[in-house]
Amino acid sequence: MPDLGSAIASRRTFAIISHPDAGKTTITEKLLLLGNAIQVAGSVKGKKGPHATSDWMSMEQERGISVTSSVMQFPYRERTVNLLDTPGHEDFSEDTYRTLTAVDSALMVIDGAKGVEDRTIKLMNVCRLRDTPIFSFVNKMDRDIRDPIELLDEIEEVLAIQGAPINWPIGMGSFFKGVYNLYTDTIHLYQPGKGSVLPDDLRIQGLESEAACELLGDDYADFVEEIELVRGASHEFDLDLFLAGKLSPVFFGTALGNFGVREMLDDFVLWAPPPQDREAVSRTVVADEEQLSGFVFKIQANMDPRHRDRIAFMRICSGRYNKGMKMRHVRLGKDVKIADAVTFKAGERVLVEQAVSGDIIGLHNHGTIQIGDTFSEGESLQFTGIPHFAPELFRRIRLADPMKSKQLQKGLQQLSEEGSTQVFAPINSSDLIVGAVGQLQFDVVAYRLKDEYKVEALYEPVNVYTARWVNCDDPRKLEEFRRKASEHLSVDGGGYLTYLAPTRVNLALMEERWPDLEFRATREH
Ligand code: GDP
Repeated sequence: MPDLGSAIASRRTFAIISHPDAGKTTITEKLLLLGNAIQVAGSVKGKKGPHATSDWMSMEQERGISVTSSVMQFPYRERTVNLLDTPGHEDFSEDTYRTLTAVDSALMVIDGAKGVEDRTIKLMNVCRLRDTPIFSFVNKMDRDIRDPIELLDEIEEVLAIQGAPINWPIGMGSFFKGVYNLYTDTIHLYQPGKGSVLPDDLRIQGLESEAACELLGDDYADFVEEIELVRGASHEFDLDLFLAGKLSPVFFGTALGNFGVREMLDDFVLWAPPPQDREAVSRTVVADEEQLSGFVFKIQANMDPRHRDRIAFMRICSGRYNKGMKMRHVRLGKDVKIADAVTFKAGERVLVEQAVSGDIIGLHNHGTIQIGDTFSEGESLQFTGIPHFAPELFRRIRLADPMKSKQLQKGLQQLSEEGSTQVFAPINSSDLIVGAVGQLQFDVVAYRLKDEYKVEALYEPVNVYTARWVNCDDPRKLEEFRRKASEHLSVDGGGYLTYLAPTRVNLALMEERWPDLEFRATREH
């Protein structure tokens, strides 16, 4: 391994944000192909892989979900790229949000025919909490998509970020010929039918060249005019604005056609930030400090049926992990020797020998690790910025056998500490309400309650629109609110007062009526 500083400086840790079906899986495959991590695209995650290795996975496979590729690492142009998977479809959960707290940048994939869709907006809002720099890729140029200028406007308006086109598409659908790079004055040529192999890097230098004239034929004058218009009407790329999360470079291509991804990745490894400094309660931790530190952002259950264990995913924020080293589990104040941290290669667990700031390692968790936990080499650090997100779906949970309420509470407590769900206990009743951001979280909770805690739980609908954590500097005001709004108040799994609003209108009303109170959509761990 190179020295620590250059190893860390070479890391690029990111996640893809997109709406289901925009092409995240396809683009992931092409990225791995470019990074030589796989030989033939199409083998990343069979959405219905044949190797069920646990009960958990058999449940997932019934639903066509894969958990095996949580973290993918590949080399590209002297950089080491870490791509963190953000579950997209049914398995969308709070983990998806929290994964975004563990990256230094994100790639937004937009379906060119559909434009900015609602899941993308939500994920983008999470990125904004930390001003994460965003790359944009407009996908599916091999289809008839919407007017690219209109798409650019939509990105700017809906996502409130400046869009700076780096390249511009030449035609679309069956007339798609490639992209023109506005900065290098180069045309990159698209060859259809090369979707599963690395396509040749065919270029024409200069829009004014004869080859460009020939390529564009009758459309030449129109295209030159369009480029002038684009240059005049759009933002110019600015590295500082990009790093501040205010401007996004925009690329066009087709992931399925394996085109435009390389052009994007080339700039990505140049511009995307290396591991960033992180705030802890006591101080700022600089990414290339010698001593190891990191935080847990995701816990995955029962990945291996032989051990029945869980894997806690830790983002390393400084220093280096060496196999067998001692780490301080800060919340418990305990030193633990870690010899079996894992990473994932092609769906298999592999022991990690070394990892540095920016990398993700998986720690075996026998119930002692929670979301947000910090590990260090002895210092009492506590990283901030790993929040709970207000759930969007709610169910009342009931027991088939009322004698088992102790087990239910214990199970729910543990599952909420792991971040699988959130639990709310209304202050006026003995009900328990669980909250999630994705539907599948409820099924996972019911399944695990039965499997691990031997509790048969049933769900009932409940009239809750969203949750807000309530805060107020004035204890008397808070007490008054507690009395007057008790009907909708709960205590969450961490003991925090939470307002469960029955409707959007009700929430707006309460915010207006109680101006001294804070109604927060996130809460720190
Ligand atoms: P995800 O849900 O975001 O992971 O999307 P997938 O990568 O699974 O893609 C959704 C569908 O769009 C699949 O049928 C892909 O084959 C298709 N798709 C992805 N990229 C392209 C593209 O560039 N062009 C076309 N025509 N289809 C694409």
